[in-house]
Amino acid sequence: MVEHSNTRCDILLFGALGDLARRKLFPALYHLERAGLLAAGSRILALARSQTTTREVRERLFSQLRQHVKDRDFDPEIAEAFLGRVEYCVLDFSDPQGYHALREWRDEPNNELIVYMATPPSMYGVIARNLKATDCCNERTRVVVEKPIGHDLESSRVINDELGEVYRENQLFRIDHYLGKETVQNLIALRFANNLFASQWDQNHISHVEITVAESVGIEGRWGYFDQAGQIRDMIQNHLLQLLCLIAMDPPADLSADSIRDEKVKVLKALKQISPDMMDQYVVRGQYTAGTSDGKPVPGYLQEEGANRGSATETFVALKAEIDNWRWSGVPFYIRTGKRLPEKLSQIIIHFKPAPHYIFDPDQQHLANNKLIIRLQPDEGMALKILTKEQGLDKGMRLRQGPLELTFSETFEADRIPDAYERLLWEVMKGNQYLFVRRDEVEYAWRWVDRIIGNWKDRGEPPKRYAAGTWGPVASIAMITRDGRSWYEDA
Ligand code: NDP
Repeated sequence: MVEHSNTRCDILLFGALGDLARRKLFPALYHLERAGLLAAGSRILALARSQTTTREVRERLFSQLRQHVKDRDFDPEIAEAFLGRVEYCVLDFSDPQGYHALREWRDEPNNELIVYMATPPSMYGVIARNLKATDCCNERTRVVVEKPIGHDLESSRVINDELGEVYRENQLFRIDHYLGKETVQNLIALRFANNLFASQWDQNHISHVEITVAESVGIEGRWGYFDQAGQIRDMIQNHLLQLLCLIAMDPPADLSADSIRDEKVKVLKALKQISPDMMDQYVVRGQYTAGTSDGKPVPGYLQEEGANRGSATETFVALKAEIDNWRWSGVPFYIRTGKRLPEKLSQIIIHFKPAPHYIFDPDQQHLANNKLIIRLQPDEGMALKILTKEQGLDKGMRLRQGPLELTFSETFEADRIPDAYERLLWEVMKGNQYLFVRRDEVEYAWRWVDRIIGNWKDRGEPPKRYAAGTWGPVASIAMITRDGRSWYEDA
């Protein structure tokens, strides 16, 4: 069923001249236009403090769209039509007086109002209060906020409280853009539409799970921002724990936002807390030193531009998460994420247990477990590693492990894989929250991560070094080898 929206939306885009808006939000809105999903009469008010005009902003956006949209998808006429919906308004977000102009812009009160806060999170409360004080929003307004929601449980509560003073939970759309990725949604389809997997998805059949989100890039000019956060706050607290939840959750009763989010919260609540005495076995923290990337020499984290040479911030984390519940008892989830790793790669590997009785060549017994590989990037897709017989008269019953492969871009050639932000903006327009993070999810995730960060602080140890272009500190390999396993790349 193809979805259409007849809902006319007014979008207030705060931070419209920033990096996120330029690289992700405007291209995503352009694609919605191109797909015919922006209803006639929908409009966008771009808000930022630069003294410029609607005309200049449209010109700038046109060339940015040309840069960020693939050539084959870029149609100048559609871009012009789309930019015809965009107006620009100079606004200092902290100045309540300026908000009266927003109310005047809203000439059609029946249009759905979407407020997108692509700003530092410290501005969320200010913007929410000013919108309310100037009567620019109501109980139907949908409000989209970006990560990070705070840097720990306490600060996330402050931000959520500020938003909560003005908006109810069902108005808040907290983005974790991983949830907008096609493959991530496919996890839900894979698990709950295929009984083949549903019946195998537990500790009886799965031995362990790996989640890797690797970046080959370093800090990319964001040293100051990143150094405040580190990899655990920037990646684990949100993206990786969300992936873990989607793999581990019980089947929801339906596809409604709260049914799905209730199940995710149960997983977060069941995560075993990592206590100080578990740290050596369960967590590895790393920081990259000089090395190579794509065959070229690159500096270490502490030599990057703008670096504080004494920083102990981690650029790599590997950890073993355990879920204390019936379904996952005894099944470790090995998670790792880092910068300046050998390649850009996000993948989940489900390792199934071997068959109860093995009857083939003893030398090949190590092959005898199926693996389901779910690739988020590059080349979104899935592969199921199964065992078959080698062909040939002389091969007897020798086994061969090969993939049943589903690469989305090849299999469904005609269908363009939408960017996460297209899906997420489209869901906001439809008022569907199932791909957005509820307050309690954010808080349970912080609670788990805060405990690890607290343990690090108490120990006061510097992160372990790894050379740029390698898969992290050797301790991360030792962590999984101790359990008699290896990371998929190393196998
Ligand atoms: P930028 O700093 O590039 O953009 C923020 C924008 O907000 C700028 O245009 C800035 O204006 C404007 N702004 C800030 N304060 C005010 C104010 N008081 N009045 C008017 N304008 C103001 O940030 P990003 O676009 O990178 O990020 C936006 C949000 O998205 C952040 O919360 C970030 O954490 C999150 N995010 C970003 C990602 C990305 O890839 N960029 C990825 C994931 C999340 P000015 O230029 O004048 O300072």
